[in-house]
Amino acid sequence: MKSHYRVVVIGGGIVGTSILYHLARRGWTDIALIERAELTAGSTWHAAAGFHALNDDPNIAALQSYTINLYKQIEAESGQSVGMHMPGGYSLATTPARWEWLQAECAVYQTLGIGARLATAEEIVADCPIVDPAGLLGGLFDPHEGAVDPHGTTHAFALAARKRGADVVLRNRVLGMTAQPGGQWRLESEHGPVTAEHVINAAGLWARRVGRMVGLDLPLTPMQHHYLVTEDLPALVARKDEMPCVTDLEGFTYLQQERKGVLLGVYERNPRHWKTEGAEWDYGMDLLPEDIERISPELAIGFQRFPSLLEAGIRKWVNGAFTFTPDGNPLVGPVPGLRNYWCANGCMSGFSQGGAIGKVLADWIVDGDPGADIFGMDVARYGSFASNDRYLRETTAQFYARRFVIAYPNEELPAGRPLKMTPSYDAQQAAGARFGVVWGMESPQFFAPGEPDFVEEPTLRRSNAQRFIAAEVAATRAAAGLLDTGVYARYEVSGPGAERWLDGLLASTLPALGRVRLAPMLSPSGKLMGDLTVTRLAPERFWLVGSYYLQQWHLRWFNDHLPPSGVRIDNLSESWLGFSLSGPRSRDILARLTNADVSSAALPFMGAGAFDVGMTRAIVARVSLTGELGYEITVPAAQQRALWDALTGIGREYGMRPIGMRAQDSLRLEKGYGVWSLEFAQSYTAAMCGLERYIAFDKGEFIGRAAALAERAAGPAQRLVLLEVDSADADVSGFEPVMAQDRRVGFVTSGCYGHHVRRSLALAYVDADIVAKSPGLAVPVVGVSRPARMLAQPPYDPLGLKARS
Ligand SMILES: Cc1cc2nc3c(=O)[nH]c(=O)nc-3n(C[C@H](O)[C@H](O)[C@H](O)COP(=O)(O)OP(=O)(O)OC[C@H]3O[C@@H](n4cnc5c(N)ncnc54)[C@H](O)[C@@H]3O)c2cc1C
Repeated sequence: MKSHYRVVVIGGGIVGTSILYHLARRGWTDIALIERAELTAGSTWHAAAGFHALNDDPNIAALQSYTINLYKQIEAESGQSVGMHMPGGYSLATTPARWEWLQAECAVYQTLGIGARLATAEEIVADCPIVDPAGLLGGLFDPHEGAVDPHGTTHAFALAARKRGADVVLRNRVLGMTAQPGGQWRLESEHGPVTAEHVINAAGLWARRVGRMVGLDLPLTPMQHHYLVTEDLPALVARKDEMPCVTDLEGFTYLQQERKGVLLGVYERNPRHWKTEGAEWDYGMDLLPEDIERISPELAIGFQRFPSLLEAGIRKWVNGAFTFTPDGNPLVGPVPGLRNYWCANGCMSGFSQGGAIGKVLADWIVDGDPGADIFGMDVARYGSFASNDRYLRETTAQFYARRFVIAYPNEELPAGRPLKMTPSYDAQQAAGARFGVVWGMESPQFFAPGEPDFVEEPTLRRSNAQRFIAAEVAATRAAAGLLDTGVYARYEVSGPGAERWLDGLLASTLPALGRVRLAPMLSPSGKLMGDLTVTRLAPERFWLVGSYYLQQWHLRWFNDHLPPSGVRIDNLSESWLGFSLSGPRSRDILARLTNADVSSAALPFMGAGAFDVGMTRAIVARVSLTGELGYEITVPAAQQRALWDALTGIGREYGMRPIGMRAQDSLRLEKGYGVWSLEFAQSYTAAMCGLERYIAFDKGEFIGRAAALAERAAGPAQRLVLLEVDSADADVSGFEPVMAQDRRVGFVTSGCYGHHVRRSLALAYVDADIVAKSPGLAVPVVGVSRPARMLAQPPYDPLGLKARS
């Protein structure tokens, strides 16, 4: 071991070795991996090491495909076998709901080019004769499913990295580390101190303990997981080729061939955590005691589905631990507030995702950019709230127990709730609010006034809550709707130099005093980093409004680009709260609550001011996402309840209703407005999504200008368009392919029913040449192809006169 490295990776599991390999492949050779014991000594050695390409997040699915494609390459490069088998795998449907869900999923996988296909029950049983066909309706076949040898794969990564010049230091525990004034880290290890420019925590089961060395409390926890391996099965002994893997989704089990027997793994509904703080330092390569009684309900279903297992002996039981995060995705990337400290933790699918995590992290360190939209696995997607012990236990248990349970787009899950509430939560609940959750914050989805027993059914189709959503849309279009903006983030940027700094950070011009402007924020590669609304409250005082759940992500970006002094950023997201009031009567309502002149002349469209509303001291911006005349009214958090009382008290006289996010979605799609994470995201550019018109190319230098200029010259490959879909009882939900005859020409970003215009609407990215030709299109809705057409203009108020009225 040398005394100084450019990068030190802590942990020699599948993730750490992949990072080392990818850094070496990028030409960084002054790098080392330090491992406490032997390579694979954490979760990795006893993994079932199955892999698959399917994932609900298409960006992560693409990264999983990358991982799978890499195995042959590292085998060739290292000369070490990875023991890869890829017979493909079936996910079984044994209920009509599951069968419908798989058909819908299959359509989405077409967008990703994964090549998944539907299979009949007969095909599945012919291919996998140990499957009992009772109740089997069909399944989804993923050709990229299989397994590797965990030991061989980890060693292949390490060997390939060493061949390229990287060091691997074994039996050397990292004991602690301190940040040096120059931005480096000094690590204390059993073999002595070592200095590193960058440190990567890839400590798997020990990640929380390694995080605590620098005061970091990671939201992850180990959990137990069982599988068993059988003796040979006659049906497999007789067979020459390998049987595909099988996941019995309703049975909570997965199965893969292991020699001439099978490996059966269980995702039980009654999961158990294991050492939430992480494994002890002296934890060896030991198995945990089996807890067969606890998993027996799922095992019983497994033996019914695979009856020949009852006759086979069990060769071994494995109960091991690996780490889970609240949403089951890993925590990857630079940790906000810790210079040159990187995470690659919480990875529960090391053999589907480890390769990609290595690539993303290496690209991020070398290029300053992960090279893909990886928000779904970014360490900055959580805040400190998620590391609370109870929150973590509840959410990870919920994820584990629901690993194979259908996730419906309209379903709100109960774990870790309610945690954060705006002061008017109780009042909104009394008014019939049904809440969802964003980043721990309760957010009304819709109101069911006077129907305390109403329960929304989880469904892929329009739900039984549509009548409430329709009423909220109608009230907003005819009178006014009131939406809690607790799920908006707010930042105040102030101090000498604030204007100059923001001008370089944002791609638009800055608003004049008392004005609001939509400001795209770009990365150097021209990709979107934000769709912020900027208000100038004083010459050097600005408010930036964005998405609540992006706080850590945005603050990391701001702080990474902050000038040395003068400019100050205050996160007001939880200290200021408010409402969005919109609809044709919203000015009348506001006027009744203030002495300020709120006429269009005094407070025009995209104008802003600070004035009293009821008893509150408010910042009011004349903007709305509904396409109506509207105002965002923001007050100190403790006054939000008083604001609710004032607005609902007067609003009632004008026909105003409280509304939820579902109504807002319907209203915004009728206007063709995009929102972050759906239409606007790190993988898209301003030219693609139509935000280019807000870019001030001639204002001078700003981040991403050169890339945006280049794209303007060449034109984007795809454009965001609004579609009308012929569908009577369901709407698209996202990532369905857009087809022109038999050619895939794009994909859907979001969709829902436009209750006012009475049409099924969708936003989609479509190939630019297709946009120009505007042919007839088709989109699968819940797996069934439906005609669709592009709309040249939004179906509601195409000239935008209402918002300006
Ligand atoms: C029973 C079971 C079945 C599984 N099945 C599958 C499957 O089918 N497919 C799949 O994809 N995944 C599966 N997994 C999960 C998989 O094992 C993990 O996703 C993966 O191993 C995580 O790898 P890692 O490198 O992040 O962590 P680990 O394997 O835990 O590696 C972390 C390493 O860091 C080292 N370390 C920790 N602290 C220090 C320190 N202070 N100094 C130096 N070194 C340190 C440890 O010794 C360890 O070697 C399974 C896991 C189990 C237990």
